[in-house]
Amino acid sequence: MTVPPGSTIGIIGGGQLGRMLSVAAAQLGYKCHILDPHGDPPAAQVAAAFTRADYDDRAAIEAFGRGVDVATYEFENLPVAALHLLGDKLRPGTRSLAVAQDRAEEKRFIERSGARVAPWREVGSIEDVRAAVAELGSPIVLKTRRYGYDGKGQAWIRAQTDAAHAWQTIGGEPAVAEAGVGFTAEFSVIVARWATGDHAVWDSPVNEHQGGILRRSTVPCSPAVAVQVAEAREAALRIAEALGHVGVLTVEFFAAAEGPIVNEIAPRVHNSGHWTIEGAVTSQFEQHIRAVCGLPPGSTELAGLGAVMDNLIGDDLDRWPELAGESGAHLHLYGKGEAHPGRKMGHVTRILR
Ligand code: AMP
Repeated sequence: MTVPPGSTIGIIGGGQLGRMLSVAAAQLGYKCHILDPHGDPPAAQVAAAFTRADYDDRAAIEAFGRGVDVATYEFENLPVAALHLLGDKLRPGTRSLAVAQDRAEEKRFIERSGARVAPWREVGSIEDVRAAVAELGSPIVLKTRRYGYDGKGQAWIRAQTDAAHAWQTIGGEPAVAEAGVGFTAEFSVIVARWATGDHAVWDSPVNEHQGGILRRSTVPCSPAVAVQVAEAREAALRIAEALGHVGVLTVEFFAAAEGPIVNEIAPRVHNSGHWTIEGAVTSQFEQHIRAVCGLPPGSTELAGLGAVMDNLIGDDLDRWPELAGESGAHLHLYGKGEAHPGRKMGHVTRILR
């Protein structure tokens, strides 16, 4: 089914990803309708329509569904039952959501698709955590099964004596205990898949994190990482295929001695793909719109020799005057109110020529 330009695309979630999707959609002649529980979300500032409603407000979701031609989402912590109300209009479907929002389901799914994950155990009690430390050794990282992002809901255990503290830190929530991976770098594969099975993949960026938050993505990746990309792409495409995913899907990897290890998947456009706005012929945002609307795939070729994308986090925002004045620096600000520590306020991309 092709959703032609002029139609309305519903986007659930009004953050910066929804904002950049809306801008890309507008360029192709679409109108966007944002649904988000907050008062002035970044995406609503650039979209044609905005519904302020909770994600589990069934009446609001149904009304939203009637008013849009196709619907998509920009983050994964959404109630699957409510989104079922959107039926076939929802792309990607709820399967991608359900798998990505539960770390235990996600790991089982990735393993079934034949890709590598770090050794892990499901944990639901302090006894389980102690057993996991005994079996997997340390360090291990505890991650809540649900609602974790940007390093939140995580705690490291470096010795058996840390177990109780780590369990307390994550609030004693159902979790996974995951062996710490010795990696040389982190990288991602960003793939777009169409309902027809067509797909497109960009060059893989190397991603540098601080405190669990992405700071910088660089393309091209180093030769040491590049040798792992072919295997990682195959894994990412198998995952997208197995999910029946339509739209952009991101798979984050550790480059380890034994080969690429999947860290996690995001059933959506991703921070490590922001460089594609200026660094590739077609951005991840435009490609997502193309995929969910059934337009042909755009080229994922590099526009220059590569790109470096730096996030502006918290009071990095204060650097905007200098960045705005820097020739060749592509500055993106997300229109968010207050710059709290750890809050993603914008990003800047420099193209390598
Ligand atoms: P996540 O929220 O799962 O993406 O984790 C945030 C960051 O923590 C990752 O990007 C890594 O830098 C680090 N991390 C997470 N899991 C592991 C692991 N099993 N081994 C080593 N580092 C990890």
